Amino acid sequence: MRNPSRKRWDRLHELSVAGGIFQAVLDALKSMEGVRGLKTVRVEVGELTFLNPQQLKFAWEVLSEQNELTRGSVMEIERISPRGQCERCGWEGSLRTEEDPTYHFITPIFSCPSCGGDITIVRGLETKVKNIVVDIEEEEDAE
Ligand SMILES: [Zn+2]
Repeated sequence: MRNPSRKRWDRLHELSVAGGIFQAVLDALKSMEGVRGLKTVRVEVGELTFLNPQQLKFAWEVLSEQNELTRGSVMEIERISPRGQCERCGWEGSLRTEEDPTYHFITPIFSCPSCGGDITIVRGLETKVKNIVVDIEEEEDAE
């Protein structure tokens, strides 16, 4: 059976997103003082990005091994459900979605449930680092 969601570019997409996060986190770690290593990176991933959380975590496992500051760290992913705002009446709420039965893609419905006006997406498209948990060196008296 063919599964259109398992195309090769899917994995490349997650890898490139994880690469961007990796670089940003590494820059942050290097700018901090006394950081022994990263423990956790928490990332917000909007459902409309169509990123696969498992593949993103796997890409992080691979990338984080490449630097001693990130080695052994864990990526936690918080899924952000889509929210929209109506341009006409100001309604704001969860974006209704429908699933395409052929491709199993979630498609948002871009009309206001209240007045039928056009909806702007306010959440669900983001991929951003929410916070990081680091291991800080304890201050000790020099020997
Ligand atoms: Zn409306």
